[in-house]
Formats: sequence, structure tokens, C-alpha cells
Amino acid sequence: MRTVGLLGGMSAESTTYYYQAMNRLVRERLGGLHSMQLLMWSVDFAPIAKMQADGDWAGAGAVLARAAARLEGAGAEAIMIGANTMHIVADQVQAAISVPLIHIADATADAVKARGGSRPLLLATRFTMEKAFYRDRLAAQGVEAQVPDQADRDRLHAIIYDELCQGVVSPASKAEVLAMIARAGDADSVIFGCTEVGLLLSPLDVAAPVIDTALVHAEAGVRFALS
Ligand code: GLU
Repeated sequence: MRTVGLLGGMSAESTTYYYQAMNRLVRERLGGLHSMQLLMWSVDFAPIAKMQADGDWAGAGAVLARAAARLEGAGAEAIMIGANTMHIVADQVQAAISVPLIHIADATADAVKARGGSRPLLLATRFTMEKAFYRDRLAAQGVEAQVPDQADRDRLHAIIYDELCQGVVSPASKAEVLAMIARAGDADSVIFGCTEVGLLLSPLDVAAPVIDTALVHAEAGVRFALS
């Protein structure tokens, strides 16, 4: 099995999900006592989130690039950033390592198309919904992401940072996000485009096909490890 290096802690709530999902997927594939061969660098998220809010992406990228290089030095044969938003610095991280970065948007685009979608609703942080880095990467692969309106984007961003990243799962917020999905025009699928959204909603809550980025990214990591 090849060793994967996971940059975690963004937030720790979803890193726990990655860890469980990757171990479960390896056990399902190989059986018995098999589990994921994983190195993890889990950051303190508070300073990273402050740099995000301040627009200091180069500073946040430098933290992740250093951590990725250390994971490579420890034996990681590929690196994963366990969050959508921080893929804004994917190029900076990739430049610091000589092993591949398994990009969450590529795993997501593949999964949207595999489920027959091409116009998904993207539920994510304001950074991921509004900046070009993520939607452009999907578009390059034939996936045209739609986003909620401004008020819904602001509210979803607050739910992610003030609740989900802090381990708070609120039925009222769940109802709010389901209402956002119901308002979403002609989308043919829904991307849980923040790795914490799957902690709030289940694919069973949504009629359209759902792509949970944390799950499809974990699957991509396992495919690499077992290839
Ligand atoms: N985990 C989140 C994501 O997938 C949000 C937290 C962050 O900014 O990293 O975008």
C-alpha cells in the first residue's frame, strides 16, 4: 500500500470524517484488519481561518506548503488538503513537494459526471463559492457550478465557520440549508462543497444526486493508496 499524507484540521471535525472514511474504504476493499497507511499533519485552524478572513492566502499557503513538505519527508507519496477552501493555495502546496497533490475539485468533477450531472449547486464557504479557483477547475472539466444567492451564501458561510467547524450541528441550520437547495433554480445535482456539510446533511435529505466532497476525496486518496 502507498502512503498518503493528509493536511488536516481544516476543520478537525471533517478530518475525523476523512480518517474514518479512508479506513472504512480500505477495509471494504481489502478486508480483515486492513486499514489506511496514512500520515497526517493537523493544523491549528484558528490562525489559518484568520489568514483566510484577512485575505492572507500566501501566508496560509506557506503554512500548508511547509507541512506538506514535512509529510513528504516523512514518506508520504501523495498529499491531500482535507478541505475545499484551502485548495485556493493548491499550486503553492504542489510547488513545495515532488509528489502529486490529489485535488479535491478533480475528484468532485469526476463524481458529478459519474452521477449524470453537469450543473450542480455548489454549497461551500463564500471563498469557494465566489472565487474563481474552484468553479473554474470544475468548468475546465465540463461542470458548470451554480451558487446560491448572496444572502444564502453569507448565511451558509456563517453556518460553516460558526457552527460546523466548531462541532455544532443544528436542526434549524439544517432546515435553512435544505431551503437553500429547494430555491436552487435548474441545478441537476448538489455538491457538498465544504468538507463539513456532510456532517449537517445526508444525501438522503436531498432528492437530487449528491456529491459529498469529503467522501469523494477520501475515495480518491484510497484509490491512490491501493493503486
Ligand atoms: N472544510 C471547509 C472546506 O471544505 C471549510 C473550512 C476551511 O476554510 O478550510 O472548504
